Amino acid sequence: MFTTINPATGEAAGTYPELSAEEIEAKLARAAATFRAWRVTGLAERTALLERIADRFEADKQRLAEIATREMGKTLKSAVAEVEKCAAAFRHYAEAGPAMLEDRTFAVSTGTATARWLPMGPVLAIMPWNFPYWQVVRFAAPTIMAGNVGLLKHASSVQGVAAALEETMLAAGAPEGLFQNLAIRSDKVDALIADDRIVAVTLTGSEGAGIKVAEAAGRALKKVVLELGGSDPFIVMPSADLDAAVKAAVTARVQNTGQSCICAKRMIVHADVYDAFLEKFSAGMQAVKAGDPMDEGTDMGPLSSEEQRETVLGQLDMIRREGGRLLFGGEALPGAGAFMSAGILVDVPVEHAVAKEELFGPVAMVFRAGDVDEAVRLANDVPFGLGSSVWTNDAAEQERFVRDVEAGMTAVNQMLSSAPEAPFGGVKRSGHGRELGPYGLHEFMNLKTVVRE
Ligand code: NDP
Repeated sequence: MFTTINPATGEAAGTYPELSAEEIEAKLARAAATFRAWRVTGLAERTALLERIADRFEADKQRLAEIATREMGKTLKSAVAEVEKCAAAFRHYAEAGPAMLEDRTFAVSTGTATARWLPMGPVLAIMPWNFPYWQVVRFAAPTIMAGNVGLLKHASSVQGVAAALEETMLAAGAPEGLFQNLAIRSDKVDALIADDRIVAVTLTGSEGAGIKVAEAAGRALKKVVLELGGSDPFIVMPSADLDAAVKAAVTARVQNTGQSCICAKRMIVHADVYDAFLEKFSAGMQAVKAGDPMDEGTDMGPLSSEEQRETVLGQLDMIRREGGRLLFGGEALPGAGAFMSAGILVDVPVEHAVAKEELFGPVAMVFRAGDVDEAVRLANDVPFGLGSSVWTNDAAEQERFVRDVEAGMTAVNQMLSSAPEAPFGGVKRSGHGRELGPYGLHEFMNLKTVVRE
């Protein structure tokens, strides 16, 4: 059995049976059979289903959101927003998907070559707990549009969400086998990837899990998309609107209690505005209210688990032992639940390995940069390359950051967030491949070239 724990109380939130070997086999067989039928459906049937799924997410958003809040601690209002965003992603693919699948024809010496997008088969998705609906929907919506079918191995801590996702798809009229939840532990994943019925795999999660899944996919010669961690820079230059930058910096660091792959984790501030930024940013971070995630007035719920909090506190201890200074916060809050306060670190030892790790909690590192070159160097001084946010009204500086910051995404004068329409993904140890937009749809499709006279 899986037992999920409410991180706001430490109490059990639900129990879910783990699948037996026979049940896993039955789901694989059903996925393969459903794919044979789904791959030949017309686009109108697929888009109609996507619309119905969007309707179900919207109609059920309160109940779905409460399950997420109980299992991983995000504020209820942010969980509702997450479910609404899922509905928007299904609608986006319903509306824009058909155009993304249009043929393209090229002249060749023997006649014409037409590139056609065809589905590939059952895709396995291994997903994390931090945005327990959204991470899955980023994969599920394009999967359905593509004519593929999906199998979900969700994080052990959000099995209620995993079950609710499958129920929602079925309630919307998805054929059985189109989207199936596999309530399994991660030790079952290698065998699934090796199974001939699985054609590709996508994972969002830690570097460690990414390496294991990529190894298994490599052995089986299967395509893999990896969306791993990040330690995103948030660069502030003198020409920036400082108040707007500070406001975005606070939200970008504490959203989801600091547990987002694209949270701004390292604030890199030009020396001319460093003191002013730090003063305002400190005030903003100190005002962040941690508390009951079900309460409308709460800014930040607990971390997703006691273990997650221990990990973050351990990283903070290590940074302090190496010379980093915690200006305030970054402490476990007394009482039940995995709560901690928002905080700010300065004098972080950039050369130490711990400063290059992903800090998955509500504590920001703030660095001083003498000029653009130093800002770029600091930004790139981590193994990750997921997102970034740059604040400057100087056009040349903007172009410099777009060109030189090693990241899959750069937001200019705004907080970085994902959108159904735009590609999402990283470089370096943040993974490879893209989700969302047309690129996310194409990742798991066979681009067949048809040559004719
Ligand atoms: P994991 O990477 O361990 O979990 C993500 C998913 O991968 C879960 O479904 C998990 O299953 C599965 N998984 C874990 N190990 C394997 C494996 N060897 N083979 C196949 N699947 C595997 O993340 P954690 O929950 O342990 O969080 C640890 C750290 O990862 C965080 O502190 C954060 O730094 C990073 N992280 C980043 C995320 C992002 O959005 N980029 C999201 C979540 C975590 P199970 O739950 O059953 O172990």
